[in-house]
Amino acid sequence: MAAIDGLPPLREVIATHGLAAKKALGQNFLLDLNLTAKIARSAGDLSQCDVIEVGPGPGGLTRALLAEGARRVLAVEKDERCLPALAEIAAAYPGRLEVVHGDALKLDITGRLTPPFRIVANLPYNVGTELLTGWLTPPVWPPVWQSLTLMFQKEVAERIVAAPGSKAYGRLALLAQWRADARIVMTLPPEAFSPAPKVHSAVVHLTALPGPRYPADAKVLNRLVAAGFNQRRKMLRASLKGVAPDMEARLVAAGIAPTARAEEVSLEAFCRLARIVAAG
Ligand code: SAM
Repeated sequence: MAAIDGLPPLREVIATHGLAAKKALGQNFLLDLNLTAKIARSAGDLSQCDVIEVGPGPGGLTRALLAEGARRVLAVEKDERCLPALAEIAAAYPGRLEVVHGDALKLDITGRLTPPFRIVANLPYNVGTELLTGWLTPPVWPPVWQSLTLMFQKEVAERIVAAPGSKAYGRLALLAQWRADARIVMTLPPEAFSPAPKVHSAVVHLTALPGPRYPADAKVLNRLVAAGFNQRRKMLRASLKGVAPDMEARLVAAGIAPTARAEEVSLEAFCRLARIVAAG
């Protein structure tokens, strides 16, 4: 493991601070600082920006973000046991790391930095999708974040970048791709983590677009997509029936076959339908 700073190797940090991984907190730690440096670099040029990190744990990714030049890192960690290890990192990078002890699902951490900033995290798998959905649905767009660089289970990463017609295509793909560019930048085998999870992982990089790719009312679009994919094996004329009257005619007007299933419909077509539904 290459030394990226003067701090001890992560295995030593974990032993010194008694950070045996807790499953309930989704703790699968990255111990290879070369790998965390690669993830930090995939977030783009950090030198002019502040970064929010969720779940720093023993600090492998945190150290990489700082070593790669992030102006400032605000890290939110739920596990109190990690705080002394993180304090050592803060001391090694004076004035550049602030650690908040708390639950990222409950705290509005994005309110603590001046936008735009980047969010980078090796997320706990049990809260990853919920956090991503929250970041993708702020009250105003563009959002406070410029980009999101996030580790997910590979299967979830594939759902984020999926194209129509694939099994992975659904609400998450439409939500992510409507107002952001999303791509998988790295895949990792279970052995990259300690302890090794059962599944492969992947890092997804999302860049916020200045506005939606196609115009649509967010609430209407969300209602259509939710209804369509809640019963994804049904034809749209049946699954969307309750969303608005005359749905069959509206589908035709949007250029969508009423017999099509949600998984066959592109983002552009969903947005067209949302505009027709919103028009009354
Ligand atoms: N960043 C470290 C790394 O890459 O080795 C740890 C990643 S581990 C997959 C997830 C981390 O998120 C753990 O440190 C865990 O304690 C923390 N965590 C879990 N749930 C959290 C929550 N709701 N809010 C903040 N941190 C959380």
